[in-house]
Amino acid sequence: MPVLKDLLGAIGNGVEIVDLTAPLSAGTPVLRLPEPFANTISFRLEEISRYDEPGPFWYWNNIHTGEHTGTHVDAPRHWASGRDGHDVSELPLRTLVAPAAVLDASDRVAQNPDFLLEIADVRAWEAANGALPDGGWLLYRTGWDERSGDEERFLNADDSGPHTPGVSAECARWLAEETGLVGLGVETVGTDAGGAGGFDPPFPCHHYFLGAGKCGLTQLQNLAALPPTGAVLLVSPLPIVGGSGSPARVLALVET
Ligand code: MN
Repeated sequence: MPVLKDLLGAIGNGVEIVDLTAPLSAGTPVLRLPEPFANTISFRLEEISRYDEPGPFWYWNNIHTGEHTGTHVDAPRHWASGRDGHDVSELPLRTLVAPAAVLDASDRVAQNPDFLLEIADVRAWEAANGALPDGGWLLYRTGWDERSGDEERFLNADDSGPHTPGVSAECARWLAEETGLVGLGVETVGTDAGGAGGFDPPFPCHHYFLGAGKCGLTQLQNLAALPPTGAVLLVSPLPIVGGSGSPARVLALVET
């Protein structure tokens, strides 16, 4: 098929592959919920053998991880509003290979870490770039990826809770219910703002997107290397049967 041959020929010659994935290690920041809620474990390798007596010619590990660790996908079933929706093994392949719209609010987030995206901001983006892509993802650039190597700066919590950017409840409902998007991708530890536990409804991006059968994608990096439109997103969560989410390698194809 010439289209695929042309695509392979274009990679490195007009098309670039951008890695949007944060490295996965014991130092990868994870969500810290307050009491009385249960928390996920951090990522950890458990060595089985390393060219030694338990395995003289080979090195391998068991991995210990939560589903929602590092760069990861939230499947609809993650949230109470989406409990009857797809688990992470059931996501449509056309959701996992899809166009990406990139909205950059990093200048405003630099002034206010609690910045919330509003419908007017998305309308302004559409006026400049055209309609949001049907069947595509909105990737919300905030500049927060610069902090992802340092859990304290990444979670940015004080006595009043975490201060990280997100989306207003009104805008989350509108994006999830009145656009053709299949998902929302962010640079922060979750798709919702740090203060979103106090919104109405609580955690509106989770509530509305997952309730609409759509997905979330977190802790992305390198969104600065993507154009506002035209990138193709490749998302590869593990097909965990019954799973609510999965760490994922996320790549973008970009015309240079
Ligand atoms: Mn999650």
